[in-house]
Amino acid sequence: MTPCFGSGNLSCRYLENDFQREMSTESIAEVAVFAAVDRTLTYRVPAELRPYAEIGKRVLVPLARQQALGLLIGLDQKPLAVKEGVVLRDILAVVDPFPTVPQELITLCRWIAEYYFHPLGEVLRSTLPGNIQLKPRVLLAVTATGRVVPRTGKSSSLLELLQDQPPLTLAEIQKRLQLAKVPHVELKSLLAQGCLERVFVWPDPPARIQVVHMVRLCHGEEPGLAAATSAKARTLAALIEESGGTVPLKALQHQVKGAKYWLDKWRRQGVISVEPMEIPRQVLGLQSIPSRPAPLLNADQEAIIGAVAPFLHTPAFHPVLIHGVTGSGKTEVYLHLISKALQAGRGVLTLVPEIALTTQLEALFRHRLGDALTIWHSALSPGERYDQWRCALNRPTGVVLGARSAVFMPIQNLGLIIVDEEHDQSYKQEDRLRYHARDVALVRARMLGIPIMLGSATPSLQSLHHGLSGRYRMLALPSRIMERPLPTIEVVDMRLQKGKSRIISPQLHEAIKKTVHNGQQAIVFLNRRGFATFLLCRGCGEALPCPHCSVSLTYHRRRDLLSCHYCGHEQRPPDQCPRCSHAPLFYYGFGTERVEQELRDLVPEVRLARMDRDTITHSRELVKTLDRMRCGQVNVLLGTQMVAKGHDFPNVTLVGVINADISLQMADFRAAETTVQLLLQVAGRAGRGEEPGHVIIQSYNPNHPAIQCVLNGDYLTFAKHELEARRGLQYPPITRLTKLLVTSRDSELARQAAHELVRLAHAQIDKMSAQNKPIAVLGPAPAPLSKLKSRYRWHLYVKAWNSKDLKEFVQSLLDLARDVTLLRRVHLNVDRDPMSTL
Ligand code: ADP
Ligand code: ZN
Repeated sequence: MTPCFGSGNLSCRYLENDFQREMSTESIAEVAVFAAVDRTLTYRVPAELRPYAEIGKRVLVPLARQQALGLLIGLDQKPLAVKEGVVLRDILAVVDPFPTVPQELITLCRWIAEYYFHPLGEVLRSTLPGNIQLKPRVLLAVTATGRVVPRTGKSSSLLELLQDQPPLTLAEIQKRLQLAKVPHVELKSLLAQGCLERVFVWPDPPARIQVVHMVRLCHGEEPGLAAATSAKARTLAALIEESGGTVPLKALQHQVKGAKYWLDKWRRQGVISVEPMEIPRQVLGLQSIPSRPAPLLNADQEAIIGAVAPFLHTPAFHPVLIHGVTGSGKTEVYLHLISKALQAGRGVLTLVPEIALTTQLEALFRHRLGDALTIWHSALSPGERYDQWRCALNRPTGVVLGARSAVFMPIQNLGLIIVDEEHDQSYKQEDRLRYHARDVALVRARMLGIPIMLGSATPSLQSLHHGLSGRYRMLALPSRIMERPLPTIEVVDMRLQKGKSRIISPQLHEAIKKTVHNGQQAIVFLNRRGFATFLLCRGCGEALPCPHCSVSLTYHRRRDLLSCHYCGHEQRPPDQCPRCSHAPLFYYGFGTERVEQELRDLVPEVRLARMDRDTITHSRELVKTLDRMRCGQVNVLLGTQMVAKGHDFPNVTLVGVINADISLQMADFRAAETTVQLLLQVAGRAGRGEEPGHVIIQSYNPNHPAIQCVLNGDYLTFAKHELEARRGLQYPPITRLTKLLVTSRDSELARQAAHELVRLAHAQIDKMSAQNKPIAVLGPAPAPLSKLKSRYRWHLYVKAWNSKDLKEFVQSLLDLARDVTLLRRVHLNVDRDPMSTL
């Protein structure tokens, strides 16, 4: 039980001020409203709010004809850059008693907004839990002055109406008075005269703070209890004293009937106090993970700790890239450094990809770090998020373990950042604010001047590039713990499987049978869900497409539905082709649902669990399935990426990859890199215990360098080759890319707008190249996913040789685009350092 009090409380003391205007010096505030507003806005801080106005607090401000919530991010005594003749509007209310966003995060968000071309207010909003983003409803009420003021002119009906009413919104007032509009001047003057006041009503937050009332014995008041005469009072007194002086009120009332009488009496006498105490919600249903003491570290692990630990005491920006093979003990290194940081009085941020998938890591951290831990990921409920966020905000030193968006968590005295599996693409958010959490973490560490550790068995080419060039310090964990061998890897050439099963080769079939027979476990991986990948008409040769997207529908047999994996559209499979009426239609390709059926047919004694987004719709199911695997109720775990990442099941001796080529076929210059990372990651799940592991990879492309790299396990050689190839093609990480995506419901409009954008770009390129700042523009072209959710998509890529030129170019292009009507009619998305080419 950790008490955390403080900000975030939605009740609000500072709203009830009258808006008198006594002015001395002007106090000016810079506010980022939580909306898609391009600039930050400037407001005047009225005298009565001045004592409360502080950077990092939320404020309510007028925005056009409405009110908006925003964050106060700058304060100045003299007008900032205010235009001649512009009268500043007043801040309406200061919402928070304490700052909710620390200055450090405001600075970071300013960087993010600049770098990713995103409105600052929206960036700031995404750092806050949902509760904090709610806007109050504004009502109008008559004040005491308003009640007695002589009724004259137009305002009389308004005051009359509110006289015997609870406060009303402006819309309600207009309706009751049957007015199209209450004149603005009139309202303003009534407010200024103090006849009317604004009343703020907060909507019910999705999550409330959970509070328990605690009875606390006041200091030095023990004799007061001892004086208890009745039996009941003596029992109560004993219970309070036994508890050490603090005990939940409910517990006392439960144990002693009529406790209320005595407790009230003691409270009046000042013997005890009753105080609310906040109880954060318990995050997670724990898995059955044995708690183990921390092992003694080996020499390689010690070397890394020796390299990072000094920077916990003498902080400096110090990026370290750890290349450690799967099972080499990276997690142990993290845990040791975290403990050291805590001892040094520093907080720690640990990022992992999709923490919901690695609940075991969460359990391990909890065993070792106990109450210091805060968890943050998308599978938490709004209430859990709210609690965890407030704990992180208020705890003097703590550890945050979380997925992508945890990079925005407030952490006091932050002294170390760890990014595990730094290569993982789920660190990149692909909608709204398109940021990369690893890169933001690096910037946060640089701004704070603290060490950051990036760890991976297969570092991204970007990080490797910086490591090899000396910008990051590179350290290695080259072998598995206890000299355990890496798994042996075998590639099955599926081209030779003609006529036999196209899904599971005899080699994999045999191996699974043997594993199950030996009482061991297997993981089978296929990065595609569903039963059949598409429904094909042999009459017209077309696959049945999604009506809203340019992709084919996937067939799910259990539910007998066709579904679009991009927009969620679902429909019953038709009997005949909707285009040419040919029948029957044929089911082609296969996903995990089909593999499940195949495996059950081939190995009837198998105890199989499938993990993909069809079977796992809630984190509870995930924890349950992983738990069943851990305690052996399941011996074959089949699934998509969910089975590939991070798991440490010591009894898994076999890993099967059904189709290694799926990610190789992507039209993406990172296809080979991504494939190798994924395959080595899933292969690394095998042989983590006493028994050695074996991996079987089925491929139609066994000679591809990516598959060959997985076979010989030499990631560094592969990566260096890839880097050279990128240099030749001038792709990242050698150059910098930004993708501009134009979308519209009108296909012709999207096409024209994309071409117009390129025309603007070319004029701009000429200007920049005259200043010796080379820029290239590729495109426009229809995006590979040319239609998504009924919007047509065109993209173009901007390439530059350094970040500064890219920024300058894209910014001026966006400024130009703002003035072009054609471009204002489409959506224009900017994706800096894009990871997806779709
Ligand atoms: P990685 O994160 O590199 O995949 P882990 O940190 O999960 O590796 O370590 C793999 C296994 O080895 C874990 O079960 C861990 O408890 C154990 N382990 C790590 N370091 C040591 C050590 N120095 N001695 C003994 N066991 C260790
Ligand atoms: Zn769709």
